[in-house]
Amino acid sequence: MSEKNEYGEYKSGYVAIAGKPNVGKSTLMNKLLHQKVAAVSIKPQTTRKRQLGILTSEKAQIIFVDTPGLHRPDYKLSKFINSEALAALHNADVILFLVDASQTPDGEDESLGCEIGSIRTKKTVILVLNKSELLSATEKRVRGEQYQELVPDAIKIEISALKDENLDGLITLITEQLPPGPQYFPKEQITDYYEREIAADLIRAACLYYLQDEIPHSIAIRIDEFLERDEDNAYIAATIFVERESHKGMVIGKGGEMLKKIGTLARLEIEAMSGRKIYLELRVKVEKNWRNNATLLKRFGYTAGGGI
Ligand code: GDP
Ligand code: MG
Repeated sequence: MSEKNEYGEYKSGYVAIAGKPNVGKSTLMNKLLHQKVAAVSIKPQTTRKRQLGILTSEKAQIIFVDTPGLHRPDYKLSKFINSEALAALHNADVILFLVDASQTPDGEDESLGCEIGSIRTKKTVILVLNKSELLSATEKRVRGEQYQELVPDAIKIEISALKDENLDGLITLITEQLPPGPQYFPKEQITDYYEREIAADLIRAACLYYLQDEIPHSIAIRIDEFLERDEDNAYIAATIFVERESHKGMVIGKGGEMLKKIGTLARLEIEAMSGRKIYLELRVKVEKNWRNNATLLKRFGYTAGGGI
């Protein structure tokens, strides 16, 4: 059934991807956009800032908003992350509530379900059961029912972002639910994230990959230089900020071993993203208490204010 108006049958709108850390939000976005725009990590909270992923077809333009995970606001940074995530939910046309179907719902899924249910303006909620390739048919049915209880009005769909299962089905479902509208962005544009911001995210993800659990949240990346040498080469210099002298030692490692590993992984990821050879230079600096310092947060790019 198509709704006709001044845009003909064309549809467009914002789709918020909500879900607790580690359910596969970034993986899904990368798969849908066929490119590495969101840093994927085996540890939670890699994605800190709102990021658009734009998928344009002949029928629709779907603008995905990858929301940072909602969690306890102990720090100013956490408060910022929460306000960004909530703003994305309120402004979206469609909400994808992404869950890890390989696990039973927990308190975090519940509170997120509540948050979504409490949004006053009516919008379509799609319950996306991810990692479903790990489940038997019976398990899928049981999990589906357990998660559906959190969002009774949601449309339910099973996918595997990792194995690329039923992603076309998801796109079709989203397109059906979008309102008629224009193509807001040029069709070649797939993100509003600049290459240097993605590079910073990938360096951060590489740190998270190798380091202990207690360090990652106190790490920030600043790109100091991003020089295009020619079409196939770029030079990037970046600083990894940590909060404590002891953390600096851990990031650098014995004889610089750790920093070298982080640098190699980050370089490979940035090369895969940008499709060219990268020369990456990393430095580590202590910036005490940056998480609670509004000026420093701003310098690292965490400017206040929600909205899409
Ligand atoms: P985010 O924190 O929600 O953005 O989650 P990520 O996209 O960073 O993914 C977290 C982890 O889950 C990574 O190790 C992914 O490889 C893994 N993952 C994502 N989707 C799937 C899936 O469909 N199946 C399985 N088995 N693992 C997945
Ligand atoms: Mg993520």
